[in-house]
Amino acid sequence: MPPEIKEKRAAPRKRKPKDLAVINECCTGCAGSPVCVELCPIKDCMFLVKDWKDAPAFGKIFVDHTKCIGCKKCTSQGPEGTFLEGCPWNAIDMVPTPDFEAKNGDLDVLKPVIPPFILKS
Ligand code: SF4
Ligand code: SF4
Repeated sequence: MPPEIKEKRAAPRKRKPKDLAVINECCTGCAGSPVCVELCPIKDCMFLVKDWKDAPAFGKIFVDHTKCIGCKKCTSQGPEGTFLEGCPWNAIDMVPTPDFEAKNGDLDVLKPVIPPFILKS
């Protein structure tokens, strides 16, 4: 069943999420129709962008981690990793926020990012 399209939330999040969605190397761009972007409830959080390095013809997902609320709707895995809906390629890792910040810096000082070469948002 195709995901229900809802209006995305534009209000800034109120607190740091416990986990953040991080795209791994399995992202295929879903041939230009990324289910994850449709499922994400937050405006300007997930973008399909050109993947100049690995697959210029397709694209991959970029997540703005200053917007992600860690809701897991893009990946929607049930107990013990059972697949419910969301990314069909297991291309989204939910990473604990402290681990993300150790690599990328404090979320509170990161700035929102609108990436270049957007194919879909
Ligand atoms: S975890 Fe939620 S807010 Fe974050 S990218 Fe996935 S769907 Fe969007
Ligand atoms: S659903 Fe998964 S594979 Fe498809 S575009 Fe999103 S992250 Fe990439």
